[in-house]
Amino acid sequence: MSTVVTGRRSQTPLIRQTQLFIDGQWTPSRSGNTFTTIDPATEEVIAQVAEGDAADVEMAVRAARRAFDDGPWPRMNARERGRIMLRLADLIEAEIDELAALEALDNGKPVRDARTGDIPLALDCLRYYAGWADKIHGQTIPINGNYFCYTRREPVGVAGQIIPWNFPILMVAWKWGPALAAGCTIVMKPAEQTPLTCLRLARLAQEAGVPDGVINVVPGYGPTAGAAIVRHPGIDKVAFTGSGETAQVIMRQAADQLKRLTFELGGKSPNIVFADADLDAAAAGAHVGIYLNQGQCCCAGSRLFVEDRIHDAFVERIVAESRSRRVGDPFDPATQQGPQVDRAQFDKIMGYVDAGRREGATLATGGGRVGERGFFIQPTVFTNVRDEMAIAREEIFGPVLSVLRFSDIDELIRRANATSFGLAAAVWTRDVTRAHDVARRLRAGTVWVNCYDVFDAAAPFGGFKQSGFGRELGERGLEPYLEHKTVTVSLA
Ligand code: ADP
Repeated sequence: MSTVVTGRRSQTPLIRQTQLFIDGQWTPSRSGNTFTTIDPATEEVIAQVAEGDAADVEMAVRAARRAFDDGPWPRMNARERGRIMLRLADLIEAEIDELAALEALDNGKPVRDARTGDIPLALDCLRYYAGWADKIHGQTIPINGNYFCYTRREPVGVAGQIIPWNFPILMVAWKWGPALAAGCTIVMKPAEQTPLTCLRLARLAQEAGVPDGVINVVPGYGPTAGAAIVRHPGIDKVAFTGSGETAQVIMRQAADQLKRLTFELGGKSPNIVFADADLDAAAAGAHVGIYLNQGQCCCAGSRLFVEDRIHDAFVERIVAESRSRRVGDPFDPATQQGPQVDRAQFDKIMGYVDAGRREGATLATGGGRVGERGFFIQPTVFTNVRDEMAIAREEIFGPVLSVLRFSDIDELIRRANATSFGLAAAVWTRDVTRAHDVARRLRAGTVWVNCYDVFDAAAPFGGFKQSGFGRELGERGLEPYLEHKTVTVSLA
């Protein structure tokens, strides 16, 4: 195969929004600068996007502040807020094919995945939180003395939201959903690799009736636009999804103002297959676990622990199925795996493939580039991996699986937990007692039993240890966007 994507695409989507969205207006950046976003399947430039920096963030924060301090959004009938959010979901659904194409173009993910996975989950999230809008209430508390004491739950204020490039539309929904339901206003920075669908969603939010200034979008780079959001005193809370290194920078920068923070960071999740498992399901789960979204998932099941007794046969199967995976044009409906998002990610992943080889792991399949253009990487499996190797410890964020062997369960748990991450884990077994026992003992925010990557807007998601703090989704996901106020009234 020489090139993976050839010729013009029949489905090239329209790119309609490339400017900043501030206070309901589309504007160029104050500096006039733009940055390019590329199609990772062809490496061609697809759009020039306004590059926001501190001056633009200043305008966006002012707009969000006004909308929060004086505007209708936090004050309106909560049920009306929910209705506007439902309208936004309906507008997204009406454009689902076009949005899926735009997502595939900007990110490289197969259009079919965006159409059947990312966007339905985003809709689910917006609709779920729309339902919360009028169900956020406090308590009455019987305190000592002649007092009437109650709590109110109020929006935290202006939320700064910084998101990554791996699930651009879905991350917007995870961030906007709870913030809007709570009555917060927003300054969002999409990732510089994938700004296009976020801008389109801002347009749809306006059409749905979200008042001006409630949602502001400032595309740009992390150290400029992102850092300006983190540092701005007009931002009450920062929600960040991305790398642990960036989270450390953000935490330091937010310390001066004791800003509220929630982080959803990386992982090196163990996916554990016992000999008694349904091995068809486990093999399919191992594939989803590592290969979903080209391996660019914070919860990727990148450490596959396989019980000794079935190890060789199971690995043979994983390797054979990896070889038959269809890597190619994201716009081809038969494609299972598209390109990595950009050259930096491509190079980083290839660096880990080299490290795996150097450290003595066996490259059972893959390890190379696919084609000559675009950031395509072969589905890759390393066997004979030892716990101390870089490929078993560090997040690769690509289609690279490390297979590890185990026999004793206590030893397995110790090894599975011997990581600074704790985002997700999975266990495959038919023994119900063992399944619950292992689920209890794994130090991770999500444990899947006989399944992988099952997401629902109602189920909280987030990390133990250095995989982050706070939770997204579910009732827990609303918490970071709410303050609790205690009101005590003398009845004397
Ligand atoms: P990745 O390595 O997956 O790209 P990053 O953590 O670098 O993850 O990026 C996630 C998001 O954080 C992106 O929107 C990026 O622009 C932003 N970002 C990067 N550096 C900073 C920073 N210093 N302050 C705020 N945001 C940042």
